[in-house]
Amino acid sequence: MDDVQELYQEMIIDHSRSPRNSREIPDAGRSAEGYNPLCGDRVRVFVEMDGDIVRDIAFQGSGCAISTASASLMTEAVKGMDTTAASELIGRFHDLVTGESRGGGGDIGKLRVFGGVRNFPARVKCAVLAWHALRRALAGDVGTVSTE
Ligand code: ZN
Repeated sequence: MDDVQELYQEMIIDHSRSPRNSREIPDAGRSAEGYNPLCGDRVRVFVEMDGDIVRDIAFQGSGCAISTASASLMTEAVKGMDTTAASELIGRFHDLVTGESRGGGGDIGKLRVFGGVRNFPARVKCAVLAWHALRRALAGDVGTVSTE
């Protein structure tokens, strides 16, 4: 394992052990839940909008290290974005972990740590779970989204 991979691994471990923004937003305008039956990951994403801006975002749930770290890094990345930028980031993250490219491009910053997930197909659903929930929350959908 080279140094870069090791660094990435450390960031995922750090975020899974000490998730950022892991709390409920009781009066969040929007929330959606994601469930990954393959792994048993469950995450609820809370979004508080200020007009078109994600003013606050948090998550609660239980799951494996990948799903927790992904949710944690997602909340850090998306906070303060408008819905267009957030939707683009969701697409870029999806492309990153699936290895697909829909021509979005653009910088994905720290989220690059999940690039290695594409080599582990069973883990892709763990990584995208919170992002699916976020997409639902931003769209104003309610209820649980399953990755199956
Ligand atoms: Zn998982």
